[in-house]
This record gives sequence, C-alpha cells and structure tokens, in this order.
Amino acid sequence: AAQLPVALIVAATHTSLGIGRAGTLPWRLPTDMALFRLVTSGGPAGGGSRPSSAVLQPAVVMGRKSWESIPKKFRPLKDRVNVVLSRTGTDFGPGTYTFSSLSQALSALSHTPLPPPPPQQQQQQQQQQQQQQHPTCPIPPVSSIYIIGGAEIYAEALKHPATSRVFLTTVYPADEQALDCDTFLPDFRGTGEWEQKPTSDLRRLLTEMECHDAVALIPPDGDRVKENGLEYEFTLWERR
Ligand code: NDP
Repeated sequence: AAQLPVALIVAATHTSLGIGRAGTLPWRLPTDMALFRLVTSGGPAGGGSRPSSAVLQPAVVMGRKSWESIPKKFRPLKDRVNVVLSRTGTDFGPGTYTFSSLSQALSALSHTPLPPPPPQQQQQQQQQQQQQQHPTCPIPPVSSIYIIGGAEIYAEALKHPATSRVFLTTVYPADEQALDCDTFLPDFRGTGEWEQKPTSDLRRLLTEMECHDAVALIPPDGDRVKENGLEYEFTLWERR
C-alpha cells in the first residue's frame, strides 16, 4: 500500500525549540490548542495523496509520555484514531492502538481502505493476512497522519521520508530561559532539508483541507497571537 503523507504538528520556542517542561507543556495557548484540534481532526495532511472522506478520521501518533500528559478526561483525543508508541506498554485503554516502533505504526496506518467484501473465501484469507501483519492491533483506515509528540517521536518522524510537512507554532517568549524548558525539538529549520512557506500557503492548505475554522484563527500577515503573556505565530514548513 502507498504510504500516506505524514505531518508533524508542534509548538516550540523560537530560539531553542523548547516544547516541554516536567512532562507537560510550558504554556497554555488556547488559540494554538484550538488550531491543533481543528487540524488534527480535519482534512488530509501532508498533501493528501488520497481523496478525503467524511467517513475516515485522521490518526494522531504520540509517544507514551505525551499520552500520559493528556488529562484523562480528554483522552483518547476525540474524532481521531489515537496511536500510542511504546516499547514496553501494550495497552493504553479503549480507543487506542499501540505499536512498538514508528515505522510499524506508519505502515499499519498506510494500509489502503479495504475494497468491497470479496467472496467469502477470499475474505477469510484477507482477515488471516491482516491478523498476521498486526496480531494484536487491527487498525481502521485513516484519512491522514499527524505526529503530535513528544520530542522522541518528533525526532524520529523528522528523519522519516514520509514526513512531508510541519505545522510549527513558533512561540516568542520575552525570556526563553525563564520558561525553563527541559524537552526540545531537533532544529530541523537550519538543515536545508526544510523550507518555510508563506502564511498565504498555510491559509490555502487549511482551506483545501476544509479546515475553515482553522483559517479564521490565523491573524493577518505579520501579526502574532498574544495570549497569557506570550506571543506566537503559526508557520508551515515543507520538505524540499
Ligand atoms: P514522548 O511523548 O516522545 O514519549 C516517549 C516514550 O515514547 C518513550 O519512553 C517510549 O515509551 C515511547 N517511544 C519513543 N520512541 C519510540 C519508538 N521509536 N518506538 C516505540 N516507542 C517509542 O516523550 P518526551 O519526553 O520526548 O516528550 C514529552 C514532553 O513533550 C512533555 O513535556 C510534553 O508536554 C511535551 N510535548 C510538547 C508538545 C508541543 O507541541 N509543545 C507536543 C507533545 C508533547 P516507553 O517508555 O513506554 O517504552
């Protein structure tokens, strides 16, 4: 099956790309959270090699620690297929799918939706094949794939060729040190592999994804969102 395109979605400080502190987020950014929810439960990510379908949900892929950082009442994240990566844990409860590597998760998620039911015999064969591929974890077809953290998973996903896009919320604290981040995104921006797109491209992409409510959250060009004493902006990066 063809690999579905994969997008990272992350909020990080401008200079050091700090993303976490003591197992949680270093800030509370309501507009960023709203954009995150709309994008990850919306249309196809990363270019959409497959037509979007109202029936299919996007997948959100996260590390075990990020899963644990989501308040119990908000998890699994609704309207999304929740994938938790862990090398040790196998069951994170109803509505979650667990894999012990990123590449396993991505290949399982990239299975094309099953064709209309074949004759009984073929169907049995197909079921057996699927069970062999994912003994403990049959996973529904998804519309798109979002990598939602944390640092360990982001680092691996940035190196994976299927990752074609990064939705980066850049946070500009007055004093980055004072935020006291202990978890960081690898600095992909300076590698030459990634190109920042203009805000107009971000707007166009979200429109194509039919995330119209998300477009409305993006301030006019050049303006930053100001919330809880922090300024930040939404940026889009694509692999060259
Ligand atoms: P992660 O969320 O990346 O989880 C790490 C765990 O995931 C590992 O201990 C392991 O689980 C599992 N894991 C990691 N890599 C793999 C792999 N290749 N295959 C299988 N399992 C794997 O933890 P981090 O500490 O890196 O990040 C958490 C921090 O990031 C928190 O502070 C959180 O708030 C922050 N964060 C920030 C975001 C932002 O946008 N600013 C977004 C998301 C998180 P196990 O030990 O069970 O084997």
